[in-house]
Amino acid sequence: MKYYSTNKKAPLATLEKAVVKGLAEDRGLYMPERIKQLPQEFFDNIDKMSFQEIAYAVADAFFGEDVEAESLRKIVYDTLAFDCPVVNVAENIYSLELFHGPTLAFKDVGARFMARLLQYFLKKENTTKEVNVLVATSGDTGSAVANGFLGVDGIHVYVLYPKGKVSKIQESQFTTLGKNITAIEVDGVFDDCQALVKSAFMDEELNSKMKLTSANSINVARFLPQAFYYFNAYARMKAMGKADNFVICVPSGNFGNITAALFGARMGLPVKRFVAANNANDIVYNYLKTGDYNPRPSIQTIANAMDVGDPSNFARILDLYGNSHERISAHMTGATYTDEEIRNIMKQCYEENNYILDPHGACGYQALKDLLKEGESGVFCETAHPAKFKETVESAINAEVEIPARLAAFMQGKKQSVSMTKDFADFKSYLIEK
Ligand SMILES: *Cc1c(COP(=O)(O)O)cnc(C)c1O
Repeated sequence: MKYYSTNKKAPLATLEKAVVKGLAEDRGLYMPERIKQLPQEFFDNIDKMSFQEIAYAVADAFFGEDVEAESLRKIVYDTLAFDCPVVNVAENIYSLELFHGPTLAFKDVGARFMARLLQYFLKKENTTKEVNVLVATSGDTGSAVANGFLGVDGIHVYVLYPKGKVSKIQESQFTTLGKNITAIEVDGVFDDCQALVKSAFMDEELNSKMKLTSANSINVARFLPQAFYYFNAYARMKAMGKADNFVICVPSGNFGNITAALFGARMGLPVKRFVAANNANDIVYNYLKTGDYNPRPSIQTIANAMDVGDPSNFARILDLYGNSHERISAHMTGATYTDEEIRNIMKQCYEENNYILDPHGACGYQALKDLLKEGESGVFCETAHPAKFKETVESAINAEVEIPARLAAFMQGKKQSVSMTKDFADFKSYLIEK
């Protein structure tokens, strides 16, 4: 399978190149040339299949031409060493719990898959040159990628994060690891971190000196595997007789997670429609309403992993729908919530359903509550465990949130990080001198 750039000005790439390079030469995002339909019998039997079996079938459709079958199966099964269960929260509203992985957020799935796929390609290449993974994070990406790659030979990970804008718990998940993980604390906001990473990939001198790759949600090896759990959600809903008029709602920031769901629909997954839930960063919400896309600097909110002012994966959505606002808005609607609303949602959901939402999942839950129509059933992604946002959640619901053991373990570690300005020249000379 070949991959093209959303900007259409770069040569086609192999999967290996798309994974290693991350971003195309023309700064576009890679898209698979074809999206394979899965056969009807797959959907007829899906409710009898395990999560791993379903995921392998989906992975085979994307990557089967480029990765040898047994290796791909192992990558998928190793990636999914934890479940993504569907849990009933309210009438016809289900939580797709994506926080059962090592860093308690959905990004574990994509990050673990990418680490294993990259390692597969490095082994095949027999290269001795170290690969450097650069990743910008507004919180959860950094921890998922750092943990997904921790201890993987031949790969060094640099996590760039905005100083003071990431919760202590999130920070501990990538600043305490050591080994092949370096945390870089940038004096700026998330968009500055992302700009540093993008500039590094475009810098010829830097690329001639070191092998760089991205692990942001723009990487095809990270965002495509996120489709796995939407198929699984459908399967579990089907088993409960809840899969007709099935709605998927995704709390969205950089729009990688929902784009994977849209790819799933293109592969035949019977989803009636999609809802993209935003916090106060309502750029896509406004686009869906008006057809005008007006990126702007991100606003800090309590759902900080969704604080994105110019979502990268929006380019993929446009491409997938032939740039048609009409087609996009027929398939997807939006919702937006202020911090105050998010706090109230967490409180209400706890009181009414005895279910603790995190601030991101809260946007998803409420968007379904507000927009679900008669006869529909929906899942919203609970994208992180509420304990990752302990203080915010506890003050909203007025009750204690228990910290899972695997999260507590991170908080024992010692912080190690490098301070950086948002000036690319500084970042570049740091990398070269390393
Ligand atoms: C990253 C993240 C999001 C946003 O996902 P995108 O793929 O960037 O849209 C939502 N919630 C949490 C907890 C996240 O970590």
